[in-house]
Amino acid sequence: MNKLTQAESAGTGTQDASTPTHKQSAIFPSYGRYDISLVKGKGSWVWDDKGNKYLDFTCGLAVTSLGHAPEKVGAKLKEQIDTLWHVSNLFHIPAQEKVATLLTDNSCADQVFFCNSGAEANEAAIKLARRYHQKVKGTGRYEVITFEQSFHGRTLATLTATGQQKVKEGFLPLPAGFKTVPLHDLPALEAAISENTAAIMLEMVLAEGGVLEVEPEFLNAVSELCKKHGLLLIVDEVQTGMGRTGKLFAYQHYGIEPDIFTLAKGIASGFPAGAMLGKGYLREAFTAGSHATTFGGTPLATAVMAATIETMLEDELPQRAAVMGEYLTGLLKEKLADLSFVLDIRGKGLLIGIECQSPVGDIVLAGQKQGLLFVTAGPNVIRLLPNLYVSKEEVDQAVDILSELIHTYAKKESGEASS
Ligand SMILES: *Cc1c(COP(=O)(O)O)cnc(C)c1O
Repeated sequence: MNKLTQAESAGTGTQDASTPTHKQSAIFPSYGRYDISLVKGKGSWVWDDKGNKYLDFTCGLAVTSLGHAPEKVGAKLKEQIDTLWHVSNLFHIPAQEKVATLLTDNSCADQVFFCNSGAEANEAAIKLARRYHQKVKGTGRYEVITFEQSFHGRTLATLTATGQQKVKEGFLPLPAGFKTVPLHDLPALEAAISENTAAIMLEMVLAEGGVLEVEPEFLNAVSELCKKHGLLLIVDEVQTGMGRTGKLFAYQHYGIEPDIFTLAKGIASGFPAGAMLGKGYLREAFTAGSHATTFGGTPLATAVMAATIETMLEDELPQRAAVMGEYLTGLLKEKLADLSFVLDIRGKGLLIGIECQSPVGDIVLAGQKQGLLFVTAGPNVIRLLPNLYVSKEEVDQAVDILSELIHTYAKKESGEASS
């Protein structure tokens, strides 16, 4: 039951389009794409060009946290479209002040730099850390220490910071100034710190790396090491931020305060936007002319950011993510308890991972056929990222489909009996 197999046919006759004479795409093949073209979305649901309907537990990779086409945000976007799209950062942009105040009033940060993506936010964080040490503190420090399995973006600096070999292949030489150590290995971290170290950067939950939460004790030790050695603590909240984990920012679960943290994915409901936030004492490091980007915090982007953040706060979406996340993980644990194929079910709020014994790519494809969209986090981990308004009924539907899929797959994979 509850299978979404009876996908609605739009009756447009577009099915014929599935067998065209294949012309090579004019797009670089840098993405491995699924064979689905999504053309419409509303709330938790998306539709493809053939009229098939899907329950979306991907959310554009933690981006559309208010669901697809959220009305309040859409209304503000339309209003702004008729008012002003873009002006240069050579002028004051009042909505930037508004968004910056919303973000700093609700976090440990005192100021914000606006940009357009997660990689750019992390790039700005790395630049700020170096410049703070070199221009404010008058030291030559430049090195940033990161962790294995982390993900920080695809620019040359952020892919170097990323603790995964696959994003670095073929891009040599990589910029100097980065060291990567194993997560939760305090002696290795201590040994990596030198007189050149400027900052330690990490995610609270390594999302791309397998939905791995950083152990609170390790995090405390990292925070202490930063204080002891005068290093800046940079928290990459690009995926964990904006309510996803059950707090507005994931660091708020742990009683630590980063010097710098970064945001992007969930910050503007799908409008491209990012932000780098920092403590007051970092202010002098970014003097006029030191860092810039043409599209950062335009009137259009900040209108959408403001509407997104206000909606999140008004509707208490972080709290909602915590409650629904607990419900979803609880249900998964109950329904998958009989399977030794499932090694772990973990997560924080609505960032959830199901670690399996073998690669789960085929389960993702089978899910698409059943009308449920989700992704992986590394080869063996299923990652669930529903929107923060997701209903109990939608969670029940998704878990029914997932449970059946994983049971079927586990049986096939290991000949294991399921009860
Ligand atoms: C997605 C992601 C990034 C990169 O963001 P882009 O907007 O794709 O540049 C950086 N860090 C983390 C933790 C992410 O999940």
